[in-house]
Amino acid sequence: MDERRVDVAIIGSGSAGLYALSQVRKTDRSFVLINGGETGTTCARVGCMPSKVMIQIAEDVHRRMVYSRYGIEGQEGVRVALPEAMEYVRDLRDNFVDRVLSNSTDQLGDEFIEGYARFVGPDLLEVEGQRIRAAKIIIATGSSPIVPEPWQAFGERIITTDTLFEQEELPETLAVIGLGVIGLEMGQALHRMGVQTTGIDMIEGIGGLQDPAVSKTALEVLGAEFPIWLGQGAEITAQDGKLRVSAGERSVLVDKALCSIGRRPNLQGLDLAAAGIECDERGIPDFNRSTMQIGDLPIFIAGDVNGERQVLHEAGDEGRIAGYNAVHEEIRAFKRKVPLTINFCDPNICTVGTRWSELDPETTAVGQIGFGPVGRALIMAKNKGLLRIYADKQSGRLLGAEMLAPKGENLAHLIAWSIQQRLTVGDLLRMPFYHPVIEEAFQAALYDLYANVEAKNTGGITESAPL
Ligand SMILES: Cc1cc2nc3c(=O)[nH]c(=O)nc-3n(C[C@H](O)[C@H](O)[C@H](O)COP(=O)(O)OP(=O)(O)OC[C@H]3O[C@@H](n4cnc5c(N)ncnc54)[C@H](O)[C@@H]3O)c2cc1C
Repeated sequence: MDERRVDVAIIGSGSAGLYALSQVRKTDRSFVLINGGETGTTCARVGCMPSKVMIQIAEDVHRRMVYSRYGIEGQEGVRVALPEAMEYVRDLRDNFVDRVLSNSTDQLGDEFIEGYARFVGPDLLEVEGQRIRAAKIIIATGSSPIVPEPWQAFGERIITTDTLFEQEELPETLAVIGLGVIGLEMGQALHRMGVQTTGIDMIEGIGGLQDPAVSKTALEVLGAEFPIWLGQGAEITAQDGKLRVSAGERSVLVDKALCSIGRRPNLQGLDLAAAGIECDERGIPDFNRSTMQIGDLPIFIAGDVNGERQVLHEAGDEGRIAGYNAVHEEIRAFKRKVPLTINFCDPNICTVGTRWSELDPETTAVGQIGFGPVGRALIMAKNKGLLRIYADKQSGRLLGAEMLAPKGENLAHLIAWSIQQRLTVGDLLRMPFYHPVIEEAFQAALYDLYANVEAKNTGGITESAPL
């Protein structure tokens, strides 16, 4: 078998792989980029982008619910023509994919290899009958939706986000099984677009929230829109050409079920053992989160495949770290960013910084604001939700937040940046807050928090610091 030698082999041309490649291409190192399956990245093809297009359609049509309040007539006639809506989703999706491809693999010659790679040794890969010997290897193979084997027998009645955006018609009735980020985003959006949706999760919470107060509010607000059943695992049986989905005592007959119970790292088929890679009990290689190196092997792992921060900007960062370390003699450790997740359901669900379960109640102060009376939220007719922020009681340094919030995507960034800058509640209260903006909710939560922290501003809460 032919053997080709390169300095770096990147397995997977998703976001992590492409960011890794951007580092490699800054040098004169030889490389190959190997991709099995569809190109164009999960983000652009079946992830972040098409899902957000769908959410935008859903949000716009849902807006009709406030028309009568404003004196706008014709609310009853506003609806989504589903085939056209889905075509629009795909058109925009194709645009995003084309943009990714034209900026990446389209520019490569024989450095780009299509096929599934597997390890033959720690520095040797096999792909499509070719052997690649690489001084450094980056695993960036992403993740795939989990569908329990018995459910696979229901064929096209079970959809995942890999197939959702390809649907030309949407079902009349749908069960969404798994209400983490993806299930909640898509479940609410589909319901708003006219699909009768029932959401089911085996745990007692939604959207990955941990703070009990925010979790309760999220359930009240989102549960008022479509049925949400928690605390019982779903079971599916076939009935009259449809699916009977049951959870404990409750059951519903639906045309299709969206399976969103999680994503499994794409490690099967790579034959990690042949490379001498040891895995933990989840089957994931033990790696260094600051260098992305696996043990002391010349192998790095980046993006969803490592099973940790399965979001786009982290896949990008991890790809860059892995790529940097693959082309430098000395392995460098990089500081990771403040954790930030945004669920684009409406209101947004966001988590920032230290998670509720990791906080020490003895040393943590909490501040909060409900969105009922927030001026900007009232103006937008979106005054539902709760923001809770956490700080170190003694120093007042901001630690984290959870929220169900209108424009939460913006608030969450502000809070993440504040935490990364190591700002205190007092520092933040000295910042300007315009009126009337959604950031005033953050300001109100800060006031509430300020009362519970020991570190106070000299010369008043809001006055500028003395020169
Ligand atoms: C519906 C949905 C919505 C999302 N929304 C958001 C969002 O709003 N914001 C956000 O930050 N994140 C979001 N995400 C998550 C985000 O899309 C992922 O974190 C990110 O795309 C992961 O990139 P990656 O490079 O790790 O994987 P991928 O982009 O999946 O790339 C991996 C590539 O490796 C290939 N491959 C697999 N095995 C092999 C092999 N053996 N050999 C060669 N190639 C192989 C795969 O086919 C694939 O092309 C969403 C995900 C989904 C599914």
